[in-house]
Amino acid sequence: MVNLKINKILIANRGEIACRIIRTAHKMGIECVAVYSDADKNAQHVKLADEAWHIGGPAAKDSYLKAQKIIDIAKKSNANAIHPGYGFLSENAQFANLCTQNQIIFIGPPVAAIEAMGSKSEAKEIMTNAGVPLVEGYHGDNQAPDFLHQQADNIGYPVLIKATAGGGGKGMRVVEKSSEFLELLNSCKRESLSSFSDDKVLIEKYLTKPRHIEIQVFADNHDNQVHLFERDCSVQRRHQKVIEEAPAPGLSEEKRQQMGQVAITAAKAIGYRGAGTVEFLYDEDGSFYFMEMNTRLQVEHPVTEMITGLDLVEWQINVANGLPLPLAQAEIPRHGHAFEARIYAEDPQNDFLPATGKIIHMSLPRCHQNVRVDSGIIAGDSVSVFYDPMIAKLIVWDNDRSAALARLRGALADFQIAGLSTNIEFLHQLASNDAFIEADLDTHFLEKHEEELI
Ligand code: ADP
Repeated sequence: MVNLKINKILIANRGEIACRIIRTAHKMGIECVAVYSDADKNAQHVKLADEAWHIGGPAAKDSYLKAQKIIDIAKKSNANAIHPGYGFLSENAQFANLCTQNQIIFIGPPVAAIEAMGSKSEAKEIMTNAGVPLVEGYHGDNQAPDFLHQQADNIGYPVLIKATAGGGGKGMRVVEKSSEFLELLNSCKRESLSSFSDDKVLIEKYLTKPRHIEIQVFADNHDNQVHLFERDCSVQRRHQKVIEEAPAPGLSEEKRQQMGQVAITAAKAIGYRGAGTVEFLYDEDGSFYFMEMNTRLQVEHPVTEMITGLDLVEWQINVANGLPLPLAQAEIPRHGHAFEARIYAEDPQNDFLPATGKIIHMSLPRCHQNVRVDSGIIAGDSVSVFYDPMIAKLIVWDNDRSAALARLRGALADFQIAGLSTNIEFLHQLASNDAFIEADLDTHFLEKHEEELI
């Protein structure tokens, strides 16, 4: 029998993802340590874990971002591995490094891979050298405004200015014509400096009708790399995903394999290990371009789990334990169609303003093999101002897209939350929208159809 290294995992996160990770760890017989802020004393992840340690004040910077404190708790509680979830410290190379220095297994990629993908411009440089297709653009070090302006003129408008340190849809400006370039460059730089303490930008061609299609990859320590197919995340609001699905509607098998292979090339180029996602822009003519690589588990990973029947967190833990990937590329199953809808505490009637307060009542759709709800909240809990206002992820599966969509509508109709505003009705309208039913998708879908949906 193999002597597995991981015997206790500290989950450096909160909410639904902390609960989701604890469930898989328990299934594998591994104990879990939760950490929590003042705002999360009674949170579900605290209750689910085998032990829980307080880390600090409610603001993330005083708690879930306190790298050294989290390491100290891991040591005191004898946890020999840390799962960072998504957000917070998950893509922080210094934190991954700190884990390694303290002989704690970081359940994620090597430090160098996080570093390489942490800057959008460095990532693009590496991908160009690896032969991965990129949108035409400039991602070099020369940041002189006149030089960047000249680059934009050469590329041809519209162009997109992107903060190289950006994320979460922040630090991006679309420039429609040359005369607007310098002003938008300035405002983009100001936003990136205040949000990411770094004002470096890159310029690229702005595609007008792209889809966002991303590939889930996995790699181990034994030079095996596979992809677990794609997810279509084109339905976005302010560059934030709202509904994700797998497989991507209308993608040919040939294109799927081609994108999968390119994603594997990208992962190999940075010596990747564990779960990662290679995001592509997919153009109407079938060309696709590398956008960025996320070096963590994604929010939307459950749609991949539904179509493959695999547990991605279990794979992550096994890879971190040094085991080889359990399946070769040709053995990875794929069945049917899955959707994920993100249920938020927000008010669609009021420009999607985040809502806070107590959830007085919450009744979930009947969960079974085809309907899954990932949540870190139950009735009686509160949604605070301190964290992302996502209440739950509703994930459904069926044999084909139209059956899965019908299931999504049914589950949304059964999902009841009282006490604060949510986007459930909005998501139901979206799942009932003709253009969505026809899969007439691109990243501007919501802007185009917003009036029909609210
Ligand atoms: P972030 O790291 O902030 O999520 P991304 O680089 O992943 O930023 O881009 C977020 C979204 O912005 C994409 O999903 C896509 O909708 C849009 N986008 C990014 N680059 C382009 C581009 N060159 N042309 C058109 N849309 C783009």
